[in-house]
This record gives sequence, C-alpha cells and structure tokens, in this order.
Amino acid sequence: MRLTRYFLPIMKDTPSEASIASHRLMLRAGMIRQSSAGIYSWLPMGFKVLQRLEQIVHEEQMRAGHIPMLMPTLQSADLWKESGRYDDYGKEMLRITDRHGRDMLYGPTNEELITDIFRNAVNSYKELPKTLYHIQWKFRDEVRPRFGVMRGREFYMKDGYSFDVDEAGALHSYNRHLVSYLRTYERMGLKAIPMKADTGPIGGDHSHEFLVLAETGESEVFYDSQVMDMELGDREVDFDDAAQCQGIFDEFTTPYARTDETHDEAKFNDVPEDRRMSARGIEVGQIFYFGTKYSESMGAEVVMPDGSRKPVEMGSHGIGVSRLIGALIEANHDGKGIIWPESVAPFRVGLVNLRQGDEAADAACESLYAGLVKAGLDPLYDDRDERAGAKFASMDLIGCPWRITVGPRGLKNGVVELTSRRTGETIEVSPEAALERCIEIYADVQ
Ligand code: ATP
Ligand code: MG
Repeated sequence: MRLTRYFLPIMKDTPSEASIASHRLMLRAGMIRQSSAGIYSWLPMGFKVLQRLEQIVHEEQMRAGHIPMLMPTLQSADLWKESGRYDDYGKEMLRITDRHGRDMLYGPTNEELITDIFRNAVNSYKELPKTLYHIQWKFRDEVRPRFGVMRGREFYMKDGYSFDVDEAGALHSYNRHLVSYLRTYERMGLKAIPMKADTGPIGGDHSHEFLVLAETGESEVFYDSQVMDMELGDREVDFDDAAQCQGIFDEFTTPYARTDETHDEAKFNDVPEDRRMSARGIEVGQIFYFGTKYSESMGAEVVMPDGSRKPVEMGSHGIGVSRLIGALIEANHDGKGIIWPESVAPFRVGLVNLRQGDEAADAACESLYAGLVKAGLDPLYDDRDERAGAKFASMDLIGCPWRITVGPRGLKNGVVELTSRRTGETIEVSPEAALERCIEIYADVQ
C-alpha cells in the first residue's frame, strides 16, 4: 500500500477521551473512530489487524476440528424465553421490537440459537461429538463502556459450542479448546494464562479464563511465576487424542493461577514465596463446560444405543477478538507508538523514502516496494512529500515491525537501512539484502 493512496487519519494530538495507551494509540494511529459510546467504526488499518486476528482464530479452531459457521446478530426473543434467560439477562441485553411487534434482541451470545439449530438437526448419539463456532459481532449494553475496544458495547467475538454425548466427551472438548486457545494466543505473540474461573450460578468445576497481564487490566490476578515459563510451542498435537489434550490441560493448569473471583489464599500460600505474584490482567477468552443447562430446558436430546433419550452435554468457549487488539497494544507499545508482533502486524514492512522526488531514492523505493509486494510482505510505503522526522514518527506510531529507510546519501554507498521497531537496532545493507532479510524474518511467521 502506498500511504498517499491509503486512508490513515493519524491524529497528532493525544485524544483526551482515552485514558489508557491502547485506546489512545488506536485513535492516534487511525485504526478506530467512536460512533457512539462503546461502538466503533473500524478504519482500514484497524480492520486489517482485526482480520489478521480473525484468520489466526479460524485456522486454530479448524485445526482442532471445530466447524465454522455464521449465525445472525439479531435473534428472536422466543428462544431466550424458552431457556429462561430473556428475563435473567437484564439491562445488558439490547431489546428491539420489529414492525410486527415481535420481540427481538441483538445477541450478547448464542447458546440458545445454536441449541435450537442443533435440536432440529441432530437426533442420534452417532452424530456426536460436534463443535460449531462462529466469529460474529455481539452487543452488550455495558453500564460503563470504556478503554476503547477493550470494553465496548458492540464487540467481535469468537464463540464456539461443543456438543457431546457424555461428560468424558465434554471434558475432551473442553481440553481441546484450552489447547487450541493456547496456540491461538501464542501465535499472536501474546502470553495468555489460563486461570480457574468462577462458574457462577450454573456451578460445576470447569471454567477457565485466559488473562493477559497488563497494568490496565480490569481483573486482579494471583499466580505462580512458573506459569510465565510455560509454552505450547510447536509441539505436535493430535486433537483427537483425549489423553494428550488432558496432559496439556494438566500441565498448564496445575501451577496456581486465579483471578480474585476464585482466589484461595490458603492454596496460594503453598506456592513458594518468591514465586507468588499478584498483578492485573485482561480477560481475552473463556472456556466453560456447563453440562445440560440449555439442552434440558430446550430439549436438545439424542437417542442413545439402548433407545433412551439423553440431553446432550454442552460447553461454550469464547475469544474476545476485538478486545485482543487492545490487549496486544497494552502488551506491545512504547512512548512512540505501537510495536506489532510480526504475526498480527497490519503491514509487515514499512518503507520510508527520505527524499521523495529524488530520482535514485524514488527508483530504489519502487523496486523495493515491488519486491516486498511480490514476496507477500504487505509493505506500507510512505511516499508522501514530508520531512524525514514526520515519516519516522508516523512509522513508529503505526508500529510496523520492520522499517526499510531509503535516502540519496545511503544509496550513493549502495545501502539502505533496515530497522527493528522493537529493539531499534539498525543495519546498513544493500536494498537486495534488506529485501532478502525481510523474507527470511517472515519465513517462519504463520
Ligand atoms: P467481562 O467479564 O470482561 O465482562 P465476560 O466474562 O462477560 O467478560 P464472556 O461472556 O466470557 O465475557 O465473553 C467471551 C470474551 O469476549 C471475553 O473473554 C472477552 O474477551 C470478550 N468480551 C466480553 N465482553 C466484552 C466487551 N464488552 N467488549 C469487548 N470484549 C468483550
Ligand atoms: Mg468471561
């Protein structure tokens, strides 16, 4: 993309309505604009990052054997009356009446709708297990929308629903989700710690939230510092192997890690003192096994081998896709702007022409630009007629992980600069070598 042809409304001043870094930087870097409280337009660069995250989420869900689909944002209230949640959900639910006077709502989540789809289509235990998911906008009329996309009213969520014939199957589904989530966050360059979560009025022992540590996080968390060293990495996972999934679950959930909602001071005190940590965290996902709550109230049953009918065992599993962008920026920024991890960067390489209009500089940039595009590195070429300082400031704000700087002086010696946004380290190399290096860097980034 050439910056002169793009739509990137960068703000020079710090927006006064934004109290945390990610919100401020998303506004300044022209990623989002608020349309009303907690509701945002995603400008082209914000939309690009959202799509990158969505892609990673899809790939990892499908790798785990989960099936993508798409349900609508608007739902009929009837199903929610059946499950009993129409009244329970309270003011967070945005209720709408259509022209025929029918009660509708903007979905805050989709358990009822998916259970309805399931019960009308599946009859036999033989058709299980199944996990269906979608990535769709949700609406919750939060009392206090704040921190930009972090706590919006309209937000983008992956929500998946597992259907199993018995508890053992449901726990395998639960563990599969935990493993797929670990890989999803790791691919985004994020450390998200699974923490035992409150199961609320539904009860049961099986819910974990995934938290990214950040000073601005809304949750108070307590953990054994050992969790910081754990990594799924690129180990082979067979998602059909229940024992392997259980092993990974045990490995990642054995060290103490809880939010204030489930914190147990006595258990925490068993952790050696030098490893006892408390901090703040951002919830970026949650997995939940709730048994037959919806299948019983809504009659989602399957016929078992002995001919009896049994309500299916269900779980719901969510990832806050739009909130993740805020979490990513909270975890990756400095005083100058955003520092994108390579896998989620809107543009993988920034190209800065220090002297637009200079024949040699323009020609070198054009050639590099073409090479970067050909290599699939999605470059952003700052081809504006601006001074160098302004171009550097914009690039630092936008946060492309790598920057190639081209100027007439360097070109006289046959070199350009390749700079890492994260470390600031710069090397002088030939334009061809800079391109080669970028291709190498991204070769392993999925
Ligand atoms: P919270 O406790 O933060 O209100 P929740 O536990 O009610 O969230 P879930 O129902 O678990 O939310 O939804 C799954 C994921 O969706 C959450 O882990 C979070 O990442 C994201 N999410 C929930 N509410 C919002 C919101 N208002 N804005 C942005 N993302 C949200
Ligand atoms: Mg939650």
